[in-house]
Amino acid sequence: MYGKLQEHLQKELADIREAGLYKNERIITSPQKADISVSTGEKVLNFCANNYLGLSNHPKLVEAAKQGLDTHGYGMSSVRFICGTQDLHKTLEAKIAEFFGTEDTILYAACFDANGGVFEPLLTAEDAIISDSLNHASIIDGVRLCKAQRYRYNNADMADLEEKLKEAQAQRFRIIVTDGVFSMDGNVAPMDKINELAKKYDALVMVDECHSAGVVGKTGRGVTELFDIRGEIDIITGTLGKAFGGAIGGFTTGRKEIIEILRQRSRPYLFSNSIPPLVANAGIAMFDMMAKTSELQDKLHWNTGYFMEKMKAAGFDIKPSKSAICAVMLYDAKLSQDMAAKLLDEGIYVIGFYYPVVPKGQARIRVQLSAGHEKEHLDKCVAAFTKVGKELGVVK
Ligand SMILES: *Cc1c(COP(=O)(O)O)cnc(C)c1O
Repeated sequence: MYGKLQEHLQKELADIREAGLYKNERIITSPQKADISVSTGEKVLNFCANNYLGLSNHPKLVEAAKQGLDTHGYGMSSVRFICGTQDLHKTLEAKIAEFFGTEDTILYAACFDANGGVFEPLLTAEDAIISDSLNHASIIDGVRLCKAQRYRYNNADMADLEEKLKEAQAQRFRIIVTDGVFSMDGNVAPMDKINELAKKYDALVMVDECHSAGVVGKTGRGVTELFDIRGEIDIITGTLGKAFGGAIGGFTTGRKEIIEILRQRSRPYLFSNSIPPLVANAGIAMFDMMAKTSELQDKLHWNTGYFMEKMKAAGFDIKPSKSAICAVMLYDAKLSQDMAAKLLDEGIYVIGFYYPVVPKGQARIRVQLSAGHEKEHLDKCVAAFTKVGKELGVVK
């Protein structure tokens, strides 16, 4: 049988390559950080990691991971409800709730699983999910696994959301679902307005804080801090795989009964392994650090402001953003690829995105800022953009 499938796959792969959509993986030979080494021997400055707080290789987290390994061993070999729960898992869940000002937290192997397992246990065909059009793939998959009626509103469009909420009055329970920060534009969901509409039309609110937790808000508490609505959002999902150290692990945090029912019924929680103790221990150390100081947020916010200002001054077309994502608009797909390639030659590692990842004619380079960047890194990046931008006629 394989012969036939093989032929089919070879054709599919050739099509992907021909369309210029084949994803090649660059191999990094150093730890994840601002200045990395890649397998071709070059050293480059990394502006495309989700390492917003520069914690991926932070000595305190590395130390805590080693300590967790020594005190609690390597793996759990179990799901949580059989024998996969250690004191470390419970402590980490409590720390996450404290950080977000929520009632309880449930850990998952990844946020992909948190989003995949959140809807089906809570909602049935009688209910409605009202989802932003630019929500992450894992939310879309989670919605697919649930029988609730689906409504989709245009990205951050509050008039459209209101329309959908009116239509959804026919259903028993309604939930509005949004990413906190949309990863391609870097825009923040208007949570204050979403929250108001939710009250007006009797809906729950869920926000996926993967790109916003640790990042937005003065002390990095995420969108509820930014919009001063702490404790008002019913469900928050997030990852330990981005700002919070970048290893692995996801969570859902929010109302007590919601978390309790997820522990009973959420399939990725019930049927998938516990996160390793070393990851839990490093997570605890990370939240302890966040509780003491927001200096990493201060640095990240400064870096982001500085970079965006310099890029605008250099003449680049930058999407407005309150996050650590800076979309440098180029519009043309080929230009985005040529520019990213030339920037790599200059020692700047960034990725150009184009259709279908972003809308047609909206190609861009996404720059992700980090507290791990020093001012000299930012200056080098702006200088490289300016040099290459002039060569390619993007700026004068
Ligand atoms: C990265 C991301 C996820 C997935 O998180 P993992 O923990 O890596 O599975 C989910 N939602 C959003 C919005 C993300 O950006």
